[in-house]
Amino acid sequence: MKPKLVYWVLIILFTILPIALESGFREGIERLSTFLWSLFLIPNILIMVMYPKWKIIIGSAFFYSLLKYAAEFSEDVPTHDKIELILLIAGSIVNGAILFTIGYFILKNNKLLKYVQKLTIIDSLTGLYNRRYFDLYMEKAVPISERSSLVLIMLDIDHFKRINDQFGHQCGDEALKHISDIIRHNVRKSDGYVRFGGEEFAVILPNTDVGHGKILAERIREVVEQSHFIYNDKQIRFTISIGIATYSGEETEEFIEKADKALYQAKENGRNRVGIFNVS
Ligand code: GH3
Ligand code: MG
Ligand code: MG
Repeated sequence: MKPKLVYWVLIILFTILPIALESGFREGIERLSTFLWSLFLIPNILIMVMYPKWKIIIGSAFFYSLLKYAAEFSEDVPTHDKIELILLIAGSIVNGAILFTIGYFILKNNKLLKYVQKLTIIDSLTGLYNRRYFDLYMEKAVPISERSSLVLIMLDIDHFKRINDQFGHQCGDEALKHISDIIRHNVRKSDGYVRFGGEEFAVILPNTDVGHGKILAERIREVVEQSHFIYNDKQIRFTISIGIATYSGEETEEFIEKADKALYQAKENGRNRVGIFNVS
């Protein structure tokens, strides 16, 4: 059984159980009411684990409170004595406090978890996604590519070593950030753009044919060539070479190799250009 289904079964069970016990055995366990209603904590906690949002946490707490008071006052018992009423309200307050505390920690925990998950897919220098994200993205993109084409663009800075050697490693780092900003601003949010490693970047373009991939690649190449990268008041010019490949059912590593080959061709042909992988 799926965990969500199990949760829902438990939620329904622990919603019905206190009501059934309360109305079925009223005479015998009257004084136990407060404890019985505490069982509503179980569905409330399960709901907040499944939907960790304050709105839902508060909403479900109100819903179960209403349910409890509706069940209590719908019975044909003449009146509740004062002690019973105080116990009911005190029970609500205690349960509310428990739910608020658990909710606070669940939300805090979730936020932390999301932050850590984000760290595992983000490159710390450029803020771009990393190779790990690339693999995860490919896992999702490959099944879709059976219906429409998928293009991979590999970008590599030309003579990057020279920038490091001439202006220092720090300058090289700034140049990487500069390129990352250009890539980020020129691709769609839905495209998978990553720093692949070192001074190599990749963009996966789902639902794109090689023609449109080339247009985008040329645009990025031109923007980089004409961009103003200034380091220590000095304008530094550099270019990139790009390789493009279209996915045709191979393993991811092979797909990357195809784009790499096209990139190598672009380098061989003089750099600052776009190469396209040819099947033949
Ligand atoms: P080509 O045009 O053939 O690509 O020449 P290239 O000099 O760019 O290529 P090569 O692969 O020989 O050099 C890549 C350099 O990138 C070497 C390495 O020191 C540098 N590099 C890799 N990662 C980083 C980084 O995070 N910061 C800096 N500053 N440099 C890096
Ligand atoms: Mg290079
Ligand atoms: Mg390289």
